[in-house]
Amino acid sequence: MSIASEIKRIKSELPQGVHLVAVSKFHPAEAVMEAYNAGQRIFGESRPQEFAAKCKVLPEDIQWHFIGHLQTNKLKLVLPYVSMVQSVDSKRLLDAINAWGVKEGRRVNILLELHLGAEETKQGFTAEEINDILADAGNCQGVFFRGLMGMATNTDDEAVIRADFQRIAALYNKLRDTYPELAEFTALSIGMSHDYRIALDYNPAYVRIGTAIFGPRVY
Ligand SMILES: *Cc1c(COP(=O)(O)O)cnc(C)c1O
Repeated sequence: MSIASEIKRIKSELPQGVHLVAVSKFHPAEAVMEAYNAGQRIFGESRPQEFAAKCKVLPEDIQWHFIGHLQTNKLKLVLPYVSMVQSVDSKRLLDAINAWGVKEGRRVNILLELHLGAEETKQGFTAEEINDILADAGNCQGVFFRGLMGMATNTDDEAVIRADFQRIAALYNKLRDTYPELAEFTALSIGMSHDYRIALDYNPAYVRIGTAIFGPRVY
């Protein structure tokens, strides 16, 4: 299977309005170019140093989405070059990104990460925390709140995965109703290689797919 044929296959499965984020973390720039030459333009990266090195040598019209844990001391490696940070998972990170945006006279597109599942990982906000953040959105002029991101429980049990996607989709819909003034809050990012077909039942704007396109991670 080539990268190009996998991209073509996956894209043919995505309904209109669902954007493919090709997750290229742990894969070299040559692999990104192969996907780029197949027409792919949105890529996801999760490690600041790796991302900073790669984006320098790749075409400027790539839209980079940062999807990994981001420490506030790494912002300068990432924020100037990304079109979106999907993985805002703490108030401290949100405040730092917002301050950077205000200082630079820009608004950074972000998704708030909802903590899903019973995972060991504590990454992400609770629903209440997200609600509080959006209630105060008027005080965050350095970011655009574009929506929510979530990772379902890592399991083969489809019912568990569906329950996670159901929960984030319900929260997303409720927040859209509660904060209609946030016109830019329009995106749900759910679904990875092993569960994106299930995610498609919950109207995502983005699916984030790595191994199904690029194969196992190489470094
Ligand atoms: C790595 C990663 C993905 C892609 O995972 P695959 O299983 O390789 O498709 C999606 N989202 C996040 C947040 C990731 O870290």
